[in-house]
Amino acid sequence: MLGRLGMQSRPAERLADLLRSSERAVVLTGAGISVPSGIPDFRTPGKGLWEKVNPMEVAHIDVFRREPDRFWHFYGDRFASLRDIEPNRAHSVVAELERRGIVRGVITQNIDRLHRAAGSENVIEVHGSIELCVCPECGGRVGIDRVMELLAAGEGAPECAACIAPLKPNVVLFGEMLPEAAMMDAYALASEADLMLCIGSSLEVYPVASLPGVAKDAGARLALVTQGETPYDRDADVKLNGDVVDELEAVLAAL
Ligand code: ZN
Repeated sequence: MLGRLGMQSRPAERLADLLRSSERAVVLTGAGISVPSGIPDFRTPGKGLWEKVNPMEVAHIDVFRREPDRFWHFYGDRFASLRDIEPNRAHSVVAELERRGIVRGVITQNIDRLHRAAGSENVIEVHGSIELCVCPECGGRVGIDRVMELLAAGEGAPECAACIAPLKPNVVLFGEMLPEAAMMDAYALASEADLMLCIGSSLEVYPVASLPGVAKDAGARLALVTQGETPYDRDADVKLNGDVVDELEAVLAAL
């Protein structure tokens, strides 16, 4: 144990200490945690399928309403690219922290389902997920596998079999509000937390970006595992800015 004493000042050790001493830790994640799974952060220009289109223009609720075929031409690629990817070790560490009773829940901006795939159970997906599509007419739900079949069989938008209306992915599109129930859950979790651990998010997109402030104001400590600056760098009790997998594995090893 003497060796560990000498490492107390290391950020991973400091974060492990914070996790050990907290009772109601909450994790908040953004695109950065899924990058090691091969999902490019679309805010990084010139990457993969984001090269040819501006997602902020085409993944917009107005495009879905006016030109559902064009919308789905883009979104079909997105579904295909996300459907078969696997969670990485960073997702696994987050799931392990919940299994050990250290973390109460995960609030994520990601729509990729990877937290659930890694074993996290209390997951609040504030931007929705690709798991389902919804019929705007009747509210009917269709799973991603069936949607992919419909996309493969036809040229345009997949439709609700009952209403012949274009299905909408159960994700928050540009121009849409975040789902109220999920945000209420996220605010409740944040305001009750005694530690908020933000992973892979630049914490710049509101209203999610307000959650660390909500937690901090309620007395929580703040930990960041993210590359690049965030508006909360000065408020954070500890910041780890290396590779997200390496950092979280170091934290788990130090617990
Ligand atoms: Zn319908």
